[in-house]
Amino acid sequence: VSVTSIFLKTERGSVSSLGEAALIRSLRRWLGAASRPAPAGIGDDCAVIDPARGRELITVDSVIHGIHFDGGTPPRAAGAKLLKRNVSDIAAMGGRPRAAVLALALDARTSLAWLAEFYRGLAREARRYAFPIVGGDVAQLPGSFVATLTLVGEAPGRVLTRSGARAGDAIYVTGALGRSLPTGHHHAFRPRLAEGAWLAGRRDVHAMMDVSDGLAKDLASLTPRGLAPAIYGALIPRRDGANLREALCDGEDYELMLAAAPGTLETVWRRTFPRTRLTRIGAFVRRGKAPADAVNLGDHHGYEHLG
Ligand SMILES: [Mg+2]
Repeated sequence: VSVTSIFLKTERGSVSSLGEAALIRSLRRWLGAASRPAPAGIGDDCAVIDPARGRELITVDSVIHGIHFDGGTPPRAAGAKLLKRNVSDIAAMGGRPRAAVLALALDARTSLAWLAEFYRGLAREARRYAFPIVGGDVAQLPGSFVATLTLVGEAPGRVLTRSGARAGDAIYVTGALGRSLPTGHHHAFRPRLAEGAWLAGRRDVHAMMDVSDGLAKDLASLTPRGLAPAIYGALIPRRDGANLREALCDGEDYELMLAAAPGTLETVWRRTFPRTRLTRIGAFVRRGKAPADAVNLGDHHGYEHLG
């Protein structure tokens, strides 16, 4: 069944035709095995979860109709994207996901068929990454649709943060960059969970983040004071014919970017993840010491959320 329309013109088949209690029963049914009985899941004032092993991680992200997806995005893909954006942030710290809560703000004329597909897309990814949706909230928002997922994770070992890069560290990215929207990568991507956890276990990896707003913008977050990234256009792995500007600026890549001491990382990576590219795109140098042929990141801008 192809579901194209998120907002209906009539009450028939819309969220308002169900009422709140029946809607929440439906949400649980659509989640299926991704939902658990209260108090470990939906149905009490809070959900109860066990303490994390090691450090606790928490992240939140939204998808908004008209901004992160539109009428051309299948609802299953929009639901999957919401969940995976959050999983990518857990991956970027070397953690693993444990449980999520989901807040919906929606128009009363939201199609139930559309919403069911959105939840099925979300539930399929939650099962894939083996964590439940344990609670949520539903509020009315005339004329729009906003879904916000808060994801709790854990890092049994080391937590890898954005700070810690050193002069001389190589800069690496996984996969390829650019043209995420036209290629559908922005909802079809696989968060780099196994790779992130493995990288966090390596002492030669000093800092890491996921690339979501474009390399040109995100690389600044990995750059310590007093250092500058010297990266080279010819080295940057590009997705499906992306040009350099697209690879640097498009955003929504959901790849990992990391700083690591030069050494054995690439060799061991190829044995461990033979199907995932890891590309060295440059190195951190002392500020003002970037070679003339390095990319001038001041010429490029990533995605501005409040632009
Ligand atoms: Mg991130």
